[in-house]
Amino acid sequence: MLDWFRRLKPAPPDLPEDLWRAARERVRLLDDRSPDALGRLRSVTARFLAERRIIGVQGLELDDVQRAVIAAQAALPIANLPFEWLGHWHDVVVYPGEFRVRRTHQDSDTQVVTEWDDDLAGEAWEHGPIILSWADIARDLEEPFDGFNVVIHEIAHKIDMAGGASDGMPPIRDREARRRWRVVMQAAFDELNRLLDDDQETPIDPYAAEAPDEFFATVSEYYFSAPDVLAAALPEVHAEFARFYRGGA
Ligand SMILES: [Zn+2]
Repeated sequence: MLDWFRRLKPAPPDLPEDLWRAARERVRLLDDRSPDALGRLRSVTARFLAERRIIGVQGLELDDVQRAVIAAQAALPIANLPFEWLGHWHDVVVYPGEFRVRRTHQDSDTQVVTEWDDDLAGEAWEHGPIILSWADIARDLEEPFDGFNVVIHEIAHKIDMAGGASDGMPPIRDREARRRWRVVMQAAFDELNRLLDDDQETPIDPYAAEAPDEFFATVSEYYFSAPDVLAAALPEVHAEFARFYRGGA
């Protein structure tokens, strides 16, 4: 009986030792982690590489190390959460540099359609691919502890969407924890916007004040790449993120 079950369950994918070592050398965010945590990150990285296709476009040719480097950063936010929370999508599309997207917006009152172009370092489509700029990934690798990380930002959007809408409310099962999350995040979001309205400096990237989903994605970047900055600037927010990303909510 046990054998039968074992045969049904596919063997977990593994990452070749040299590839994992190469990724670890380049992704400094993996420094100073316990053997336990590294083991988990390695298997999540392997699973990400096995289940997602990471493709270069516009002439960008990615090698296995570059793919592993992207996957290892993607593994950080999801490492202690159900992998399924990444959602059903397949592709990570990587441009050489920032890419231009055309936006349209129709005003619900006037029906006027506005169009504009955005230059982006990353984007995550609902039920669709993640799009990244290699130039921005390379910059994150060079300056890993500055609060910016485009891969983590886009993966955070996917985790947010696993809770339903893209609204800064990730899937937190416990009711009380969900309530607390809402209160703490709303207060921090409002305070950021107040500072911006008063032309004052914000303690974290003001992009977090754009919308609740950008708040979640931007704060996730800090949580993994500059946790001390986040803990000093927004201690209550840091505590909630720590609980969530450690898998305890
Ligand atoms: Zn975003």
